Amino acid sequence: MKELKEHTHISASQIKLFQTCPRKWAFKYLYGIKEERTEPLIFGNVFHTMVENYINNKQLILEDDKDFTKNRIKLAKELIQNGIKNNTISNKLSNNIVEHPIHINKKHALYIYDKLVKGYIDLMVYNNNQWSIQDHKTTSNFYWALKEHELKTDTQMILYAKWLFNFDKTANIIELRHNQFNKRTKEVRVIKDMVTREHVNEQFNFLTHTVKQMKEVEDKVRQGTKVEHLHVNFTVGNMKASEPCGAFGGCPFITNCMDAEKVNDRDKEKERKGRLKFRAYRR
Ligand code: SF4
Repeated sequence: MKELKEHTHISASQIKLFQTCPRKWAFKYLYGIKEERTEPLIFGNVFHTMVENYINNKQLILEDDKDFTKNRIKLAKELIQNGIKNNTISNKLSNNIVEHPIHINKKHALYIYDKLVKGYIDLMVYNNNQWSIQDHKTTSNFYWALKEHELKTDTQMILYAKWLFNFDKTANIIELRHNQFNKRTKEVRVIKDMVTREHVNEQFNFLTHTVKQMKEVEDKVRQGTKVEHLHVNFTVGNMKASEPCGAFGGCPFITNCMDAEKVNDRDKEKERKGRLKFRAYRR
């Protein structure tokens, strides 16, 4: 196993991963074991770069990068053009802030305990005295995309809104918005909702509980607990796509976890046999 890494920051994706499986989070963020880049991830990056170029530079610049293959560019272009047609994305507004890093400016940086919250807001728009935080999402099926009522509790949106409320002390209500692009049907739709400062503070407090648990897990691992021995509350090795070990084509750490479970089972069996012997001896 690699050396433990310093762990100084958190992000929405880290919190979501920890909530899915604390072991997977620890393998990835405490040991820094990289997962293979999947096609949805690569396409997502290509798409985001092209949207950014469209809004900032008013053109769909093609990057000279191996990820920018003909097929990916063609699909991204088609989705962006559909988004322009139905006014989901526009480069006409002068007050667009694109890909804003929330962790750069120390004065407004957000911390949970001693962890810096990192993230990039895809698009911030200030219009008619009101902020809108927008995130572009590509999906192969709207079934997997967030629903309107889920925006108000989404980890990423809550972290961004909390940062924005800290940044603009006069704001009391913010629009949260997902621009969703369906890669299969090429449909583009918008879901949005409004959140108040009070609501965001309340949701942010829930997230701090998760970060506290992350810190406890980190302490255990730094004190010598093996990651594969950390407690998880689901059946390890379950390969259903709806379960953590089977999701997204299967977890890359399954061998470590399955081996550890076998050892645990053997130890439990030894202990059980020991108890039976002891009872028989007493009789
Ligand atoms: S195999 Fe399952 S328990 Fe192990 S890290 Fe992956 S998701 Fe978690």
